[in-house]
Amino acid sequence: MASLGQLSLALLLFTPTAFAAVAKPPTPAGQDYAPRFVYKSKRQATADLTRPPQSPPVFNDTVDSLKMDAPGLCNQTKAVLDKLAASVSPLNATFANTYGPILEDEHDVLTKMYIQQFYASVSADSALRDASSEAASIQSNCALESGTRDDIFKLVESVYNSLNTTQGINGTIDAQDRYLVDKDYKGYLRNGLALEGSQREQFKAARSRITTLQLQFDQNYSGDTSVIWLSPAELEGLPEDHINSLAKGTGENEGKVALTFKAPDVTPALALVKNPDVRRRIYIARDTRVLQNVPLMKEAIVKRDEAARMLGYEHHAALNLENKMAHDVATVQPFLEGLRDRLYDRGQEEIAGMNELKKKDHEARNLTYDGNFYYWDRDYYNNIIVETEYAVDQVKVSEYFPLDRTITAMLQIFESLFSMHFVQLSTADLAALSPSGNAEEMTWHEDVIAFAVWEGDNSGFVGYLYMDLYPRDGKYSHFAEFTLQPGFQKSDGKSRHYPVAALVCNFPKPQGSNPALMTHDDVVTFFHELGHGIHELSGRTKWARLSGTSTARDFVEAPSQMLENWMWTNLTLSQLSSHYKTNESMPTELMDALISTKHVMEGLLTLRQIAFGLFDMKIHTPASHEEAEALDMSLEYSRSMRNTTGLKGPEDQGEPENWSSGEATFGHLMGGYDAGYYGYLWSQVYSTDMFYTAFKTDPMNPATGNKYRHMVLEKGGSQDEFQTLEEFLGRPPNSEAFYKELGLE
Ligand SMILES: [Zn+2]
Repeated sequence: MASLGQLSLALLLFTPTAFAAVAKPPTPAGQDYAPRFVYKSKRQATADLTRPPQSPPVFNDTVDSLKMDAPGLCNQTKAVLDKLAASVSPLNATFANTYGPILEDEHDVLTKMYIQQFYASVSADSALRDASSEAASIQSNCALESGTRDDIFKLVESVYNSLNTTQGINGTIDAQDRYLVDKDYKGYLRNGLALEGSQREQFKAARSRITTLQLQFDQNYSGDTSVIWLSPAELEGLPEDHINSLAKGTGENEGKVALTFKAPDVTPALALVKNPDVRRRIYIARDTRVLQNVPLMKEAIVKRDEAARMLGYEHHAALNLENKMAHDVATVQPFLEGLRDRLYDRGQEEIAGMNELKKKDHEARNLTYDGNFYYWDRDYYNNIIVETEYAVDQVKVSEYFPLDRTITAMLQIFESLFSMHFVQLSTADLAALSPSGNAEEMTWHEDVIAFAVWEGDNSGFVGYLYMDLYPRDGKYSHFAEFTLQPGFQKSDGKSRHYPVAALVCNFPKPQGSNPALMTHDDVVTFFHELGHGIHELSGRTKWARLSGTSTARDFVEAPSQMLENWMWTNLTLSQLSSHYKTNESMPTELMDALISTKHVMEGLLTLRQIAFGLFDMKIHTPASHEEAEALDMSLEYSRSMRNTTGLKGPEDQGEPENWSSGEATFGHLMGGYDAGYYGYLWSQVYSTDMFYTAFKTDPMNPATGNKYRHMVLEKGGSQDEFQTLEEFLGRPPNSEAFYKELGLE
């Protein structure tokens, strides 16, 4: 159970192209489009594939039901563990008699718990969102409670110890079970089971407080409705229909519109708004919001440090890295710093190039030029460089990516590469699958699209996939894949529980008869998230806690990062693109130009990720607890960004050095990626190695795709990730391809 509290629902998005040029596509008129996405697979149905062998989940929870069910699951687990402790003693504990009941209960709990917690991110009903957050809080405390029981720990310890005696009572245990026990036992140690008496109580209190802080942080962040009021004139540069789509002000904001800090607004604004002072105001406002989260993050850092020291670790990073591929700070710190040192000059060259352009531009427009190149200049001039030097008009590019057709083509790529078959479930199908006959309760919102996923030859069911494509109030505001039910082998030892995954996205919604168009950035992002979904669906482990995306945190992004490469090849782009008016594929010149931008500003882009990683390591490796208490998080954040990227900020204009409170919206570090942000770059090493070795010359080879699906995706976290890589690559992984891709041989 120890790992249950560490299981996390969502894979947060990392967009490597986050500041590549992004323009909101125009909303063309004059053609009729289906109001809802309709998918047509190229595969043939050989039977009725809309009635899978496992019913899909029902999303009919209410505030009242969650109030009952969340503690109910907790009580169920408690009863199972009580019975286990009463019937098995450390003297006769075996894998079967100890883990059997634990894992059976865990499987039952996980098929319900993730969904109970999911509403917090997607429900349109704020009361249900709150109840769902409350359920998560109850369950997190419950997992902590279960994972810190001495009586169960003694049984686990006994099983763990007997694993090392080959002739012992566990002599026949297989590799996956052995791996699970090893992870589980170490998880108990990290949960403080070696602590006694008041120390144990203090440790538990610290951990419980951290959970509360995380939930508050997430609630504040997802509930943030702050906007910046600007006049249409101030937003000059942003397409007119985008400005028109923004909420209009009244009273003191009469004549102004509200720009939100959600990606579909703020990203194009920073790339397109001409007035540098307005961009500056937008940038600063974005980085100084949700201020109530600043003290929450600070307290979490202090509490984490306290908890880690109680367990005898040097700091939180030492504790948290123990079960990662990288293992320790002595590996991570030189990895980040070495990469920074090798890339810093490239970043400065990129800044110098853009700054030259800025100088000319400011002179031509009669604007003051102070010689500095600021954070809020980056996306704007990067966009101009991409449009002029690379002749890539991102608006034109987006015309080739109407949402429905693009997603269709992506699913078809997955179908042929990984031998799958996606069958969209209509409203009538959902009604037929619903226990009450009501299709509505088979999704959490009317916008949601559901798929039954089958093997490519329809020989077996794979699982369910949902897509929730458009933004709405209160919904999680980025792109992420959520596991709703993990896959596992049922206790009969033969049949499987099939996994269920959801993609939560925020594409601009189609307006009337106009199609939604995706930027290339969106295309890459969606393929990445779909990759996580496929990873989840491909899971074929015995145990849910090792299934699909339940790998080491610093490996989990590798499969999706590898798939991003597909969105940068002529072959796939010509399959994927289809002009919204003419259905034509993207012309070769435009495609080549687009592909040539893959590495534009990559120095600066990677330095930004390194800055996040170094900030994360800095706050999680204080030399003493006093140092943790004295940390000025905002100062460290601002410093890390400025010193690593070389971009200038408000601190160069006389503002205090700790001007930014970017940490207040840095959800990664509050849960899941703490002392783990480096993992995005770390897993890039392995994703690039896999791509170069297996796919680069022939990315659509189904035999390779199938081998990858079964040797990598299917394994999930059921064995050491280095082993998985070595088996797939046929040799130990290395960083040659990674540096080659960055041009740093
Ligand atoms: Zn991801």
